Amino acid sequence: MKSFYHQSRKELLQIVERPARASRAFENVYREGAGSFGEVLSIPAEFRTALSDALDLELPSIHQRFVSSDGTRRYLLKLADGETVESVLIPSGDRVTFCISSQIGCALACTFCMTGQLGLIRDLTAGEIVSQVMVLRREAEGDYPRFSIVLMGMGEPLQNYDNVLKAIHILHDDYGLAVPSSRITLSTAGLVPAMERLAAERVFPNLSISLTGVTNASRDRLMPINRKYPIEAIMDVVRKLPLARQNRVMFECVMIKGVTDSPEDARELARLLQGMRAKVNLIPLNPAPEIAHERPDDDAILQFHGILLGSGITTFVRRNRGNDVSGACGQLKKKEFVSTRA
Ligand code: SAH
Repeated sequence: MKSFYHQSRKELLQIVERPARASRAFENVYREGAGSFGEVLSIPAEFRTALSDALDLELPSIHQRFVSSDGTRRYLLKLADGETVESVLIPSGDRVTFCISSQIGCALACTFCMTGQLGLIRDLTAGEIVSQVMVLRREAEGDYPRFSIVLMGMGEPLQNYDNVLKAIHILHDDYGLAVPSSRITLSTAGLVPAMERLAAERVFPNLSISLTGVTNASRDRLMPINRKYPIEAIMDVVRKLPLARQNRVMFECVMIKGVTDSPEDARELARLLQGMRAKVNLIPLNPAPEIAHERPDDDAILQFHGILLGSGITTFVRRNRGNDVSGACGQLKKKEFVSTRA
């Protein structure tokens, strides 16, 4: 059976025939947490039956849950076909961020990322993307009234464009969770044609671009996708965005010892971003035995940070969250057991 969470409000019309009924069904499920269509009392009984005949409200089950000492929770969710996917709940103060996946595995094979080592297993459906938010929201319930969503889990969201955009529209729907686009962030390794397509969308999420290597020679080695879409092509798309959208672009750079952390790299990055409104997020590498890279010393990161700030570029260093449960950036690998690292 098809999942309710895969349906846009417009698609529901095929079953409930009137827009007002589709809106009530959305409100009942997304806002009031109806667990079955029998509870959707605001629409006539015959349409409740039609909904239950056509759609299910099943959410992925929690196969495993790992709680980090810093409060971050990593979930291994089991989907209807038995595949598992990872989602991470990251509390900070009274806010919470849901880090969700767009694919199972990833085809891009970045050398520093563990998800890349899996290869692509399959795309997630829009319903499976929305479902992750529903599960994490239930898990966060009571503690955090407001959440943000980052598409920074497993996979390359722009390689699963239609499902990701459909999920964003469902999450953004006024009658559903009504998540504002300013609280949704899509992270991409820089798929240029898809970025151009995204630039023209009605709902534009915050855009994070995983740059990491600041010259083509360095980025080619770390992120094979760069051989297809080099740095200049990425910068070109960003520079062409209207300023209101350009303001919502962030460049992420994984700091890798001796590879991406030199003062020359920092100066090159400042040069690339000259005259742009974009911000920078430095992510100290989360190491793993399977990855042949190291995290730089704090001094190197501080110096890199200082050079960017000195060039007038808003830059943050991302705190590593959830490392002890393999829930940090680049560590999502459908892992069943907590890795024990020194
Ligand atoms: N494929 C998309 C979405 C994944 S986001 C993208 O690349 O943007 C995951 C983020 O974690 C990316 O910014 C990636 O560069 C970063 N990352 C990957 N491996 C990492 C590691 N070992 N340590 C720290 N960050 C890592």
